[in-house]
Amino acid sequence: MKNYDVAVVGAGPVGSTFARHMAEKGYKVAVLEKKREIGVPLQCAGLLGKRIKKVNILPDKFIINPVHGAFLHSPEDTILSVQKDKPEAYVLDRVGYDKFLAQLAEDAGADIFLNQKVEKVDTLRGVIDIKNKENDKISATVVVGADGHASTISEKFNPPVESFQAAQYLVDVGEKRFQKDYVHLYVDSRVAPGFLWVIPLSESTARIGLFADCNYQQLNILLKELIDKRPEIRGSTILKKYYGVIPKYNSQKQLVKDRVLLLGDAASQVKPTTGGGLIMGFTCAEIASRAASQALENENIELLANYPQEYHEEFRKELKAQLMVHKIFKSLTDADLEYMFRKLKEEGAEEIISHYGDMDSQSILIKELLKRGILFSILPKMLSRRISNLWK
Ligand SMILES: Cc1cc2nc3c(=O)[nH]c(=O)nc-3n(C[C@H](O)[C@H](O)[C@H](O)COP(=O)(O)OP(=O)(O)OC[C@H]3O[C@@H](n4cnc5c(N)ncnc54)[C@H](O)[C@@H]3O)c2cc1C
Repeated sequence: MKNYDVAVVGAGPVGSTFARHMAEKGYKVAVLEKKREIGVPLQCAGLLGKRIKKVNILPDKFIINPVHGAFLHSPEDTILSVQKDKPEAYVLDRVGYDKFLAQLAEDAGADIFLNQKVEKVDTLRGVIDIKNKENDKISATVVVGADGHASTISEKFNPPVESFQAAQYLVDVGEKRFQKDYVHLYVDSRVAPGFLWVIPLSESTARIGLFADCNYQQLNILLKELIDKRPEIRGSTILKKYYGVIPKYNSQKQLVKDRVLLLGDAASQVKPTTGGGLIMGFTCAEIASRAASQALENENIELLANYPQEYHEEFRKELKAQLMVHKIFKSLTDADLEYMFRKLKEEGAEEIISHYGDMDSQSILIKELLKRGILFSILPKMLSRRISNLWK
């Protein structure tokens, strides 16, 4: 049985990033990936806030488009248009980027093993059972479950995860219709707290998708309806269809058990408002790598507990604000949403969102809207009070 300092289950973007951090610190790292090829199939809109450049390495070649703004559409198509001078986000070639992150881990010294499905982990001894011809086992002082939303490792000490379903089409509209650096986001009470998106890749092609508490059949109906209804994508040719799962953020999730820790989607580390998981996952990979190296250096596995503690300190406030928005958003009808959009437009919110909006952290914008009394004038008093209590 091979022995490592660290074994990472899952060569997704978060697992590979954690593996690179640990290999760079000089530890012997193994990454076990069940697929034959990293990064496929694509299961992501690839829209990442500008913070990505602070939390991971991102060469320009993986950026398809920088994003300067968004058109936010209400159910009856009242449009809030928001924009920034500098790129607020980037649309990425996620497949290429996942492969690149794995290559970085390998270059730093990690051993990556493809086609190795992990079946079981012994959290106390750090022994991992792999399903391959030899039914190998490996052992590690620290084991990391970065094996995505349906994590085998998480199942060992957490209840089954609750998730949203997501669907995405790659479409061609056959002519130059898109402003490449603007995305379209659509709200609809049938999908809330999820939403629908059109993310241009070029002037004529786009990723269109949604996530919601619906089954795949319903998601397809909603996407087809969007194509029929919205002039920017009407008559699209569907080139490819992708389906995926987005775990629901869960503050109660146990992230460390004995010598095992969870990261990324396996840890339900996704933003409640957008379902985006990469920036939080990369930040947590860094935090976890510090705790894991302290544990290895001091030969004291209990130091792994520093990871959830630091993670909660870093994200508690922002996640609390996002969860509140998420709850309110879920409770609104189409008529409420329409009223809210019209009021926001009347109150000059486009300018405020353009100035204070941040894809990665919405608490600053919410605070500003509260300060100016805009949320109070739109939402029922009780809800506004609940939101303002967040900062008390
Ligand atoms: C349609 C859709 C759109 C999205 N859009 C965005 C977006 O625009 N921006 C954003 O930030 N996030 C987005 N997300 C979320 C984002 O894709 C995830 O948060 C991200 O992929 C999580 O990375 P990860 O490394 O934790 O997990 P994953 O990317 O899921 O990687 C897990 C890896 O573990 C492997 N694995 C699983 N089980 C085992 C096993 N038993 N043994 C060995 N290997 C195993 C898998 O094969 C996989 O390679 C989207 C998700 C969906 C579904």
